[in-house]
Amino acid sequence: MAVDPSETPLYIDGEWHESESDESIPVVDPTTEAELTAVPSATAEEVRRATHAARTAQSEWADRPAKERGDLLRDVADVIEDNVESLAETLVREQGKTRSVAAYEIEASADIARYMSEWDRRIEGDVVPGSTRRQSITLLRKPYGVVAGIVPWNFPVSVFVRKFAPALVTGNTAVVKPSELTPLTTLELMDLVDREVDLPPGVLNVVPGGGDVGAGLVSDPDVDYVTMTGNVETGKAIMRNAADDLTRVSLELGGKAPAIVCADADLDAAVETIVGSRTINAGQVCTCVERVYVHEDVREAFEERFVEAMAAVEVGDPREDPDMGPQVSAGELEKTNDAIRRAVEQGATVATGGTTFEDPPAETGYWARPTVLTDVDQEMDVVREEVFGPVAPVVGIDSVEQGVEFANDSNYGLSSYVFTERYRDAMRIAEDLEFGETFINGSGGAQQGHHIGWNESGMGGEDGKHGAMKYTQIKSVYHNFD
Ligand code: NAD
Repeated sequence: MAVDPSETPLYIDGEWHESESDESIPVVDPTTEAELTAVPSATAEEVRRATHAARTAQSEWADRPAKERGDLLRDVADVIEDNVESLAETLVREQGKTRSVAAYEIEASADIARYMSEWDRRIEGDVVPGSTRRQSITLLRKPYGVVAGIVPWNFPVSVFVRKFAPALVTGNTAVVKPSELTPLTTLELMDLVDREVDLPPGVLNVVPGGGDVGAGLVSDPDVDYVTMTGNVETGKAIMRNAADDLTRVSLELGGKAPAIVCADADLDAAVETIVGSRTINAGQVCTCVERVYVHEDVREAFEERFVEAMAAVEVGDPREDPDMGPQVSAGELEKTNDAIRRAVEQGATVATGGTTFEDPPAETGYWARPTVLTDVDQEMDVVREEVFGPVAPVVGIDSVEQGVEFANDSNYGLSSYVFTERYRDAMRIAEDLEFGETFINGSGGAQQGHHIGWNESGMGGEDGKHGAMKYTQIKSVYHNFD
């Protein structure tokens, strides 16, 4: 990386800048627990400079033919694809993702940039007849102006691109704040884009820092639209803060994804999908299966195979590409272990896993154990609260209807899963689940789908046509030619 983020952490108006800040936030490798570097947080004045640069650049950017904006995003995709290995290496070090999952995230980031670039010639409005003689109305899609992107640590690169790519292609400019835990890969990518893509100054800016920097961005008078991914409480704070100026918000928040395993399900396939979903990125994924509802007819058979498969998950140094690396921080590990301890206090049984390793993967590192909890009921905290670690409670159900009832009995509404071979059950359950997305006999979203949280899991949504167009607002023009 050409720039040193401890020296010049701010990317504003097409250039790297030092910060006047006297606060630096250490970035810690979750495997070695070593401090990789410390990144100065943007000051309030520096956030203002970034949003002002974005404001100044916006009208010229929006005036460009959309295809030119798309071409530049395709260049961004090329740069990401050309640098998968180096970006993935930084990501492994700062976040603890295994090598292959880190590479997957970087490749997915290129895919997002390329997919969103393709909306350049599809920013379509409508033409409708008016209500008076010789009148027609055109409904045009216009950018909001300056978009503030606020990014979590669990997918620091793909969420960064997920924020700026649709914003830019639709004619907005952007200021993005990475998570204070994982700013390095973002800054490395910004450096590559700065050197290799001809983006005009001010169109994309990055300001590192923590929640206070994020709050400053949200309340900044030059910001027209806030798109944030993170936890529910932060989302609520952002919405309250944005209310003062009626700044638009899009919030992609936490989840508590249920999986309903029906009596006729292919149990091996269900176990494989659920284990993968619960342990990828050490269980730190908003769409991860977080509670499993299994029909009593097959509960024992399911539990046996599930426990065996979770116990076989190999935890270790993410550079060696095991199944699962460490959690991102000591704090996140403690939250996972606390969830296990409270579940046990409330009556759950640890069928495999727990809070300690007999033989830890290494002397340093924030290692969580893939854990299955049985003897769990619907009222326990572990079924109701988001657990961002590899912990899977299993609850027996007597019917498909009870599975749906338990699944919907939640404040969250992001992802949900159903496993059955019966078409009619699959369709009925998918129809009745009050979640923004349902996966039938599988997992994993696609760019052309739509990733959206219902209930307290958010508002706005990302990906696909609706994710691109949410960065536009509609303007009606009445043409009178009588
Ligand atoms: P977090 O809410 O702690 O932080 C997210 C971002 O918000 C960070 O950049 C943080 O600095 C910033 N922030 C904190 N306080 C702020 C404030 N008052 N104003 C403005 N910004 C503020 O979340 P996290 O721990 O980084 O991420 C994990 C959470 O994200 C989980 O709940 C997970 O489910 C959720 N998530 C959701 C999705 C989705 O698409 N729905 C995707 C990934 C992660």
